[in-house]
Amino acid sequence: MTKHRNKSLLGSDGRISGFSIAENLGVTPLINAGGPNTRHSGWRPRPEAIRAMEAMSEVFVQIDELLIAAGERIAELTGNEAATITSGASGGLVVQAAAAMAKGDPERIAQLPVATGMPNELIIQRRHRFIYDHLYLAPGSRFVEVGTSEGCTLDQVEAAISANTAGIIHLESPFKSLGVVPLPDLVALAHDHGLPVLADCASMLPPRENLTKFTDQGADLVSFSGGKAVRGPQSTGFLVGNPEWIEYARLNNAPNPGVTRAQKVSKEEIAGLLAALEVFVDEDEEEETRNYRQQMMFVVDQIAEIPGLTAEVKHNYDHYIPHAVVAFTSDWRGPSYSEICARLKADPPRIYAAEDYREDSSCMWIDPLNLQAGEVEIVAEKLRHILVDASSGR
Ligand SMILES: *Cc1c(COP(=O)(O)O)cnc(C)c1O
Repeated sequence: MTKHRNKSLLGSDGRISGFSIAENLGVTPLINAGGPNTRHSGWRPRPEAIRAMEAMSEVFVQIDELLIAAGERIAELTGNEAATITSGASGGLVVQAAAAMAKGDPERIAQLPVATGMPNELIIQRRHRFIYDHLYLAPGSRFVEVGTSEGCTLDQVEAAISANTAGIIHLESPFKSLGVVPLPDLVALAHDHGLPVLADCASMLPPRENLTKFTDQGADLVSFSGGKAVRGPQSTGFLVGNPEWIEYARLNNAPNPGVTRAQKVSKEEIAGLLAALEVFVDEDEEEETRNYRQQMMFVVDQIAEIPGLTAEVKHNYDHYIPHAVVAFTSDWRGPSYSEICARLKADPPRIYAAEDYREDSSCMWIDPLNLQAGEVEIVAEKLRHILVDASSGR
């Protein structure tokens, strides 16, 4: 019997694999040289996470009990006072906003996303507006924007606080660190007014020290992705923060009925995230960084001589692990970064590379996070080929 199961997903050798599934569906796999981007499948989950998910499918538990216990374990693993699990970091943003408005009040929780009769304004610095911030609006809140796209002062934030303010948003994300109010100052102001600081730090791991950095600076709820560098299930995330606000977050989150019900996390995903986090926090970050840097130096060496561009390894706030960053000089005669990335992805071996997402995009890069054995050579070769052709006007 077994041999007929999933027959439409098997390869010509009669076995199932990632390639056979994709091939049977007519989907061409790609090499992910652009980092943990959801459209490009995020991360390859750790084997430990997959094993824990499979094992967890064998038992039934009460989900609230599991979520509370798993939250305690995450707090312990990450060095925080409290934590809870969400559906991606995005799910964490919805929960943050709901918690800020309804806190632990059952009637208010049930009422959302209709936010009448409770404070529902979230203050956000204009420079912190970004593609995912609409999640904060999902449970019925609205933004009060302060400052300009260039920057913002503490006074401008303070002037926006009213009786209708529910919380203040803070974003940590590449290319977003300049011109904004420093987190500790924002926290001091918010707490003076009895308000929580809601932080989105989804992609700020590694470095692992960030697991406690933003909570140490006083943020009340901090959202991280479980499906990025942690390498848990793609759909998971977690909130760390102070116990009172984590409890509000939990009460506003699935499986409790309400606005966040659509973002439930299964027991398998909960177990998978725990298993992945346990491995993640134990990894030797220096060795990991050395290894990434070596791979990226290899890419840089293959393309550095091409006229009209610079290539260098960067590892800083905007580049969470060593990246091979390509920037065109004024002598560049070839097509744009987007066009180069499109050419990389067009034909097999299809390669996804990252592009600076700002409007005035100023570079593209290779991210080693998802590269598997033998892939960095393929990526460097194809990139070199395309850049040489492009630089000579082909
Ligand atoms: C990746 C990211 C998210 C979304 O995280 P998911 O875990 O994919 O839901 C939200 N905010 C920022 C800043 C991110 O980088």
